[in-house]
Amino acid sequence: MRIDVVSIFPEFLAPLSLSLIGKATETGLLDFAVHDLREHATDRHRTVDDTPTGGGAGMVMRPDVWGAALDSLLEGTQEPVAAPRVVLVVPTPSGDTFTQRVAEDLAQADHLIFACGRYEGIDSRVAAHYRETGVEVREMSIGDYVLNGGEVASIVMIEAIARLLPGVIGNPESLVEESHGAAGLLEYPVYTRPNDWQGKEVPEVLLSGHHAKIARWRRDQAFAKTIARRPDMIEAMPPENLNKADRALLQEAGWRRQSDGRYLRPTEPPTQG
Ligand code: SAM
Repeated sequence: MRIDVVSIFPEFLAPLSLSLIGKATETGLLDFAVHDLREHATDRHRTVDDTPTGGGAGMVMRPDVWGAALDSLLEGTQEPVAAPRVVLVVPTPSGDTFTQRVAEDLAQADHLIFACGRYEGIDSRVAAHYRETGVEVREMSIGDYVLNGGEVASIVMIEAIARLLPGVIGNPESLVEESHGAAGLLEYPVYTRPNDWQGKEVPEVLLSGHHAKIARWRRDQAFAKTIARRPDMIEAMPPENLNKADRALLQEAGWRRQSDGRYLRPTEPPTQG
């Protein structure tokens, strides 16, 4: 996979040269490059922004500067038919939420280009223009809060995507039971040595060496943790992911089975007063 990031602060992306993603770039699993947007400014001061049309606070990033930067990266990638899949990712707090499903989807692409906004963001015509010219454009938010720029959001997305690429994580099995994986659950609690720490002992079943019992215990723990912390994930769970014990647990806890087999959390009793 090729990943390009365009930013006015290329140094911001330095953490991606560390750890597993850095190693993947070094060994050629990943072709990763960062580009300075200011290289595409045309004036003496290398200006990339201007005042908002219509007035208001802050500055907006100019579409012509972004256009020059993105055209240089997209050149030759929009050939018809067996063209590689190129995705322009535009981080923005008003985008669709970036989730593990999106990471899995984007991990299938051949080339990702991240356009890091600053100030009040990038002129809206940029995303619209590339969409109209046939580029797959994904405006993505990493959560309901506002950062100063798209660099940290891009790091988050690139790390989540790149770790799914074959060969990046040493042991691919560690991806299987993770939170937000195919089972739609949070991960079970994990432990290591010492077995007794601060008077807290690791659950005995984990020391039993009985693989089937351990697997069952972990699945039950993952399910109980998800009910407690993320009932929305249980509500979204396809009925075929629920086993008999899960259904019994949900019923016992007052969850309501819907006609499509999904479950709804118990409604809160109305507050007095
Ligand atoms: N004026 C914009 C708004 O209210 O939607 C916020 C602009 S923000 C200060 C500057 C840049 O930070 C954005 O263009 C985007 O690249 C990035 N950014 C901020 N919050 C983000 C989030 N939650 N997810 C993804 N990118 C974000």
